[in-house]
Amino acid sequence: MEKILPVLYKAKNECCGCTACFAVCPKSAITMIEDEEGFEYPIINAAKCVKCYMCVNVCPIK
Ligand code: SF4
Ligand code: SF4
Repeated sequence: MEKILPVLYKAKNECCGCTACFAVCPKSAITMIEDEEGFEYPIINAAKCVKCYMCVNVCPIK
């Protein structure tokens, strides 16, 4: 079965903006984007992601 794109957070309280996922991604597929309040949240570029799930595994909140 085709692996699905990882979900780093569903709601903003599931992400503390630590950037660990951004740092660990071997494909540089994650970008930290500032929201309207100035907090950065990771966004996965689906075209670059190889679905290795390293980002999900490194996340301290999961
Ligand atoms: S699954 Fe792998 S390639 Fe995709 S965003 Fe996460 S760390 Fe990067
Ligand atoms: S590792 Fe988890 S808590 Fe840290 S920025 Fe990524 S999604 Fe957010």
